[in-house]
Amino acid sequence: MNKILDKKYNYLSNFFTTAIKESRLFHSLIFYGSNIYLQYLMALEIARQLNCIEDKSEDCNCRNCRWIRENKHPAVMTISKIDNKSDSSKTVISEEQINMVLDTLVNSSDYHRVFIFCDAEMKKLSREEYIEYKDFIETGFNLPQEDNEYIWYPSGINSNCFSTVAANAMLKSIEEPNSNVTFIFLTKNKEELLQTIISRSQAFYMPDMQVMEYEVDFFKDYFGQYPCFQKEKALDFAQCLLNYQIEKSLEPEYIIDCIQYYLEETAKYNSKNRCLLSVIHKDIDKTQQSKNMIKAYIKEQTVYEDLAFYFAQRI
Ligand SMILES: [Zn+2]
Repeated sequence: MNKILDKKYNYLSNFFTTAIKESRLFHSLIFYGSNIYLQYLMALEIARQLNCIEDKSEDCNCRNCRWIRENKHPAVMTISKIDNKSDSSKTVISEEQINMVLDTLVNSSDYHRVFIFCDAEMKKLSREEYIEYKDFIETGFNLPQEDNEYIWYPSGINSNCFSTVAANAMLKSIEEPNSNVTFIFLTKNKEELLQTIISRSQAFYMPDMQVMEYEVDFFKDYFGQYPCFQKEKALDFAQCLLNYQIEKSLEPEYIIDCIQYYLEETAKYNSKNRCLLSVIHKDIDKTQQSKNMIKAYIKEQTVYEDLAFYFAQRI
């Protein structure tokens, strides 16, 4: 499987790899959770493993793997209101699109067909969205569309994304699946999908990486005696944050978020210790200030040093 997915969704990653190897992948899957780019990545990775003609390894360069990475594989299609569209309806997945899907299913194929359903738009991204986008692009997979100014941004599908006729037409093919076809639906909340799709699919929760994925190990040594902080280690601490950010190509805000996450977790486990809580709350306020400094384009090193000296001086 893909490294990012292995790291963020280890359990699911292994689950799908094994299911594909043993040819028992369900024909209709729902992914739900808040990061649709990651769901899209998981869908493409499943499509890649289903179609790979060599060893399915992450760096396999067989024709199918290459085409899927380039998002140009004829059997792996993204279906949204703006992708794979021949008619002029701009607001929904149309009947024509679903008929196109059904038509391709009539012919047999050596490929394993994968249809990925989501909502999408071409837009300018906010800073947070851009981070999700960058994570995606760094995996070497391409998005279905490119535009110099606007970026393809997927969002969750819901029952309003289909025209009624399209929804009905599609249900039939999910109900009577062909072999070598997999439908994958990406959504924020699976309850927003048509009940008939939910009942014919296997659903998998992909929790938000922004909740799951904060790392604390890289700075934990400095917080071993928290809330105490060794004054003489302040500069080392700042340097440690900077090194980790550069080494892993992270955003400075993420580094601060990791510290904030650590503080919030500590607060959770010490909810009765008022004295400690008041220190933690002040520390969290300070990390918030650090984030504002970053937004104001102050150099990371300065922000980290400022934060380190705050910790060194506060007790
Ligand atoms: Zn391959």
